[in-house]
Parts: sequence; C-alpha cells; structure tokens
Amino acid sequence: MGYIEPAPIKDEGNPFEAMMSRFHIASQILGLDDELYNVLKSPAKQVIVSLPITMDDGSIRVFDGYRVIHSNILGPSKGGIRFDPGVSIDEVKALAAWMTWKCAVVDIPYGGAKGGVQCNPREMSSGEMERLMRAYTLAMTEIFGPDRDIPAPDMGTGPREMAWLMDEFSRSRGMTINSVVTGKPLVLGGSLGRTEATGRGVMVSALAAMEKLKINPYRATCAVQGFGNVGSFAALLMAERGVKIVAISDISGAYYNENGIAIEKAIDYRNGNNGSLEGFSGAELIEGNELLELEVDVLIPAAMEDVITSRNAESIKARLIVEGANGPTSAKADTIINNKGIMVAPDILANAGGVTVSYFEWVQNRLGYKWTGERVNRRSDRIMKDAFDHVYSTSQEYDISMRIAAYVVAIDKVAKTYKYRGGF
Ligand code: NAD
Repeated sequence: MGYIEPAPIKDEGNPFEAMMSRFHIASQILGLDDELYNVLKSPAKQVIVSLPITMDDGSIRVFDGYRVIHSNILGPSKGGIRFDPGVSIDEVKALAAWMTWKCAVVDIPYGGAKGGVQCNPREMSSGEMERLMRAYTLAMTEIFGPDRDIPAPDMGTGPREMAWLMDEFSRSRGMTINSVVTGKPLVLGGSLGRTEATGRGVMVSALAAMEKLKINPYRATCAVQGFGNVGSFAALLMAERGVKIVAISDISGAYYNENGIAIEKAIDYRNGNNGSLEGFSGAELIEGNELLELEVDVLIPAAMEDVITSRNAESIKARLIVEGANGPTSAKADTIINNKGIMVAPDILANAGGVTVSYFEWVQNRLGYKWTGERVNRRSDRIMKDAFDHVYSTSQEYDISMRIAAYVVAIDKVAKTYKYRGGF
C-alpha cells in the first residue's frame, strides 16, 4: 500500500494523539495547506464551567463541566455528553474532533462537538444526577440549540438525562424544544430504531466489506468483543444474515462455541442476569485476549478503545475488522494490521449508524412528525452503504487503507466547505 509514515505517536492510550496521527497522514495525502491544517486541528470553541451541586447529605460539591465545539463548518455541532471520573478537557477535545470527521464521513449536515462532566454516576443518586444535568444544561443554555449545538448521550448518560436536558433547555426558552437534544425517550420525541442503530450500521458496514473481500456470509465466522448496546445488536443482526458468531465477550469473560452461539439466547440470558454474560452456558469460557486472536473471518471490537495495539496486532488472524467501538485500534497497530493485509472498516465509518439515526431524530422533531422504524432503518442502511462505498473507492483511488481513506473523505469535505464559506 502507498502509505505515508505516521506522525510520531507519543503514547498508545491517548485518544488525541491517535486521532491526530491519522489526521496528519490524511492531510498530507490531500495536500492540505498549513493554514487549513491549523484551522481544522483547532477546536472552534471550548467552554469550561464550575457546577456547584447540593448533594443528598446537604453538602455542596463543585463539578467541572466541559463542552468543546470542534467545528460548526458543516452545520450545527453534534456530540454526546460523558459523565465519568476520567473526563478531562483533552479527552473532550479529541472526542469532539472525532465527531466532526464521523458526521462528515456519513455526509450528514453537522459539525462535531463533545461534552463532559467529571463525576462518578455510579456513586450518585437519581436526584443528584438530575441536579447536575440541569445545572450543566443551564450553564450551556447559550451554547446548545437546535441550530447551534445538539448534544446526545455518551458514557454515563442516557435517555433519562437527555429528558432532563430537554426540559431544562425548554424552560429557559419558555416553550418545548425537543430538537435541542437527541437520544431522548420515545415519548419525548426519541426515534424508533435509535437503540439498535449503531449495531445495525456495524452490520451494514461488515456485509459491504465482506462483499468486497468475497466472503460469503453463510460460510463466515465472526467474533464480537463487548456485548452491550453496540456488540449485542451487531452480533444479532449479523447472525440473522447467516454469519456464524463463534465468540462473544463482556467484562465477565469471553465465550466461544465453534458451532455458533445462539445470540438471541445470549441476549435473553444477559437481560435476565443483571446485564452480564457471567455463567452463560451456551459456550465455553476462554481468555478475553484470545477472542481477538481467533481464526475468524470477521472481528468486531465493540467494547472500548485501544484493544488492538502494537502488542497484539501481529497475532490477529481475522480477514476483516469492523470497529464498533470508538478507537479500538491504536495508531501504532494500524501499520501492522495494514501490512498483514487485513481490511478495517474504521470507527468513524462503521459506528456512525448511531449519529445517523440521531440526525433522523432531529429531522423528525423539526418536522413534528414520526417515522416508522422501517423507514428509519431503510434510510440509515442507505446512508451507511453509500458512506462505505465512498470510503472504499477513495481507498482504491489513493491506494491507502480504509481508515486513512475515511479521514481523507471527511477532511476533504470539511476543507472544501470551509473554502467556500471563507474565514477571516
Ligand atoms: P455498553 O456499555 O452498552 O457496552 C459495553 C460492553 O463492553 C459491555 O458488554 C461490557 O461488559 C463490555 N466490556 C467492557 N470492558 C470489556 C473488556 N475489557 N473486554 C470485553 N468486554 C468488555 O457500551 P456501548 O454503547 O455498546 O459502546 C461500546 C463502544 O462503542 C464504545 O467504545 C462506544 O464509545 C462505542 N460507540 C457506541 C455508540 C452507541 O450508539 N452506543 C455509538 C458509537 C460508538
């Protein structure tokens, strides 16, 4: 493959460095000039707030809250809100840029943003969470808006928190504005198909890639790491299309069955077992790391970042990796994976089904109309397939990996739009 050497990577495990090294390579391929390079790598706006919250015991604690708008060149910025002890401005900055590229790859009219509050939701009561979410929303009331910046759930937040956000924002404006946030409960204007959207997009990307590699789904095997929202729906939908899922895993361990795992049964088991696969009897227990190195056609990392690194990339035997998780492959591992001839459907392409259906939620809210689940699926499948084809043809045209091609598609689109709109 024609491949430009990556920029030096300081550290595996640093999402900003990982993102920047790919951005750097793609910018070189596009011949991006220095000025535009600097514009696109710098976030447009960074907001830091202090949120004093009365805790249940009467004490007052101050939480740090962030919102970073990386870019609003393509349209209002879009990105989730993370409630986690590890949240920092650097992490939020990296995730915001990631959202810019992801929205551009699937060609939806959004820029990228991300928000976060440094807190531990597992140690907070529902009342404390509500006060924190409302305080955060109030602090961001001039940042958020259906035409400005549209938040969504991320780690530690879900439909319940989005409902509070929508309510608080609507109070600040004196009217109901449900299009200010996506990922809401269905009754508040959430979209059908949103829950399974990311896993569904992973399946569409996987099947499109398998077609290119001439892998017949009915003869293919697949291993899925992570059995949460993304992994379990991806596994279920792949199995429905004939793929034999031989291994699944979650935090409790990895489960292998060479004859194929009954995914519906595994989901039922997990649902009745506090969300965990622990004790699942439809497969034998194997080491978590072993799952990644199985001799399968397709590997779907759908748990967390940095699981395929320079330490284990050489041992990966799959022909195709479809990234359900954000950042599962380190930048250092990219080169090893490419040299082994493994195709990767990268995160900013393969897991963009979620933000695509979030976009549909916003469209429906603005129309004041509700689409059927069938319409949502049909349209999101088309967007995912078109995006895959665009990235694939770009990878062929420049003789580059699918990951760098995805960045090329995204950066090219944002750069062209920027040139038309003009700057200072
Ligand atoms: P989730 O919390 O529903 O599920 C995560 C799963 O990973 C759980 O089954 C958990 O037990 C498992 N897990 C955690 N650590 C593990 C380990 N060391 N080994 C094996 N399994 C492990 O989360 P999710 O929403 O499914 O998100 C998974 C990934 O996909 C994250 O990287 C997330 O950023 C990304 N993502 C999610 C969405 C979405 O719409 N939910 C969209 C885009 C990207």
